[in-house]
Amino acid sequence: MAYVIAAPCIGVKDGACADVCCVEAFHTTPDADQFYIDPEVCMNCSACVAACPVGAIFAGDDVPEQWQSFIELNASASRARAELDRAGDEGKER
Ligand code: SF4
Ligand code: SF4
Repeated sequence: MAYVIAAPCIGVKDGACADVCCVEAFHTTPDADQFYIDPEVCMNCSACVAACPVGAIFAGDDVPEQWQSFIELNASASRARAELDRAGDEGKER
């Protein structure tokens, strides 16, 4: 299972993780409280875990009980981003 960003990222959102990811799995928007990891892109390399200053990133199987909902939150935010990207690409093709 892909890596997951949980609650400690909220309000920190410094982007340190995104700098170390070689597949660009991280994303966010100006309005979002946190960064997200796209589970369709993450290669499970674990490089981002040590880069996070607040311990917000977990292997999918190790997400603490109280933050299990963040597994779906990362996935749904990533699906929404992919949808927006597709719509943007289709707009460019017209
Ligand atoms: S585990 Fe590796 S591939 Fe996945 S988000 Fe972290 S740095 Fe990127
Ligand atoms: S390094 Fe940690 S706190 Fe910073 S944006 Fe990434 S997950 Fe959030």
